[in-house]
Amino acid sequence: MVSRVIPVDPFDLVIFGGTGDLAQRKIVPALFRRYCAGQWPNATRIIGAARAGLTTDAFRDMVSDSLRKHAPKRSKDPEAVKGFLQRVEYVALDALSEDGWAQLAKTLRTERVRAFYFSVGPRLFGPLAERIRAHDLANAQTRIVVEKPFGHDLESARALNATLAAHFDEGQIYRIDHYLGKETVQNLMAVRFGNMLFEPLWNSQYVDHIQITVAETVGIDGREEYYERAGAMRDMMQNHLMQLLCLIAMEPPAKFDPDAVRDEKLKVIRALDPVEPHHIVRGQFAGGANGRGYREVAGNPRSTTESYVALRAHVSNWRWAGTPFYLRTGKELVARSSVINVMFKDAPHSIFGEEAGRHANALSIRLQPNEGITLTVTIKEPGQGGMRLVDVPLDMSFAEALGPESQDPPDAYERLVMDVIRGNQTLFMRGDEVEAAWAWTDPIIAGWQARGDVPKPYENGSTGPGDAELLMKRDHRRWQGINP
Ligand code: NAP
Repeated sequence: MVSRVIPVDPFDLVIFGGTGDLAQRKIVPALFRRYCAGQWPNATRIIGAARAGLTTDAFRDMVSDSLRKHAPKRSKDPEAVKGFLQRVEYVALDALSEDGWAQLAKTLRTERVRAFYFSVGPRLFGPLAERIRAHDLANAQTRIVVEKPFGHDLESARALNATLAAHFDEGQIYRIDHYLGKETVQNLMAVRFGNMLFEPLWNSQYVDHIQITVAETVGIDGREEYYERAGAMRDMMQNHLMQLLCLIAMEPPAKFDPDAVRDEKLKVIRALDPVEPHHIVRGQFAGGANGRGYREVAGNPRSTTESYVALRAHVSNWRWAGTPFYLRTGKELVARSSVINVMFKDAPHSIFGEEAGRHANALSIRLQPNEGITLTVTIKEPGQGGMRLVDVPLDMSFAEALGPESQDPPDAYERLVMDVIRGNQTLFMRGDEVEAAWAWTDPIIAGWQARGDVPKPYENGSTGPGDAELLMKRDHRRWQGINP
């Protein structure tokens, strides 16, 4: 089976912060791969914008280097690289002054989709939005793309929303959470709402609990300053894990349309109970054979910033009453693994007797690496010796069913940037969703601060602090392994 490429009309995409890490590592390579796939036409232009006084040729050299590093396979085709670079331009401008804006105005074409990607720190969102308006750069098809972090707390998120709302309608604002662009995350919706099999069981009557794990092996190198102020709660839990929780817990939307989906996600966030202090564990990597401790890396011997957080959340509605959601995320852990485990209840009565043991189904949705879905089912252990039961994975191998192409799905940014151009907001966060997520997160962080909470140390390369195991053990449950 071959994926269908639906071409889009020519567009202008301005990347503010075009020389920065995100633009060069993610956005530009994603655009290149979509160009190679034939998704956008030659009349399209990608305009990098930043303060550095580069010529377009120098910027193209920078882009060419980035493609070699971050799109190694396709950048081996010199014709493709040449064709792409011809569509790339550069304008030197300052978000905080008038420098360069007249030049940008001259560069833009009329009557086509005009997207402005704010790949800069949030303090520049307001000035950029203001200048886009002041220079009359927005047309009827303008879209604004903003990256996380979207605020530091509820107050700052509200202020950012208000700043953007002063210049653009909500329908023009695309808040990126790149987790939503992952193929498997969308598959999650397809599996839930496209099959009769799962949805009738998708509730507290049949689901014992749900685990959402986003484990990273990387630390905070190069991001120390940002991370010291953020911590795992703000950096990962408030956005990525919260979004995954929403997709797992939400009611079926009436249709797959941006507001229908986002309305349902919002209801989940609003139904979340406050988290009890004893249902949350903070950790900080402490070093060991596998590397330096957080405090040393951060250059702050007394840092109390968490690099790990595990918590038990409750969605207080009819569907989920009594089914806990266990969420955990951390850095410097044993493996890089993002996975959602839906753990079903045991069969109400075992006809095979006590000795057959306890068996329950589990649906594992792996987001990265090795995207895929596994359903664990109980079968008879083959061979003689009576009725012994064993749990085996029923692997839904996408490669076998869909062909090898399914093993190389588009990067999240490829999908998201193209959705911006197409004007589809389904996979982007709405302002009220972001605010609701902060409203749930803020009291947790305020509680830590009020209590002077110090994160529990854990060894680099481990599965996190022992207290996270206790969190589960107290509930007679255990975490699934963190496997690469
Ligand atoms: P970065 O590497 O520091 O790049 C910042 C960019 O902004 C540079 O191109 C810089 O170029 C430009 N810039 C700074 N001040 C400017 C001004 N006054 N006017 C115009 N351009 C200006 O940052 P980044 O890592 O790319 O991150 C960009 C944003 O995305 C941040 O908000 C970050 O939190 C977010 N984000 C990044 C990642 C990632 O993987 N990097 C992931 C998720 C979210 P000049 O200095 O030449 O102007």
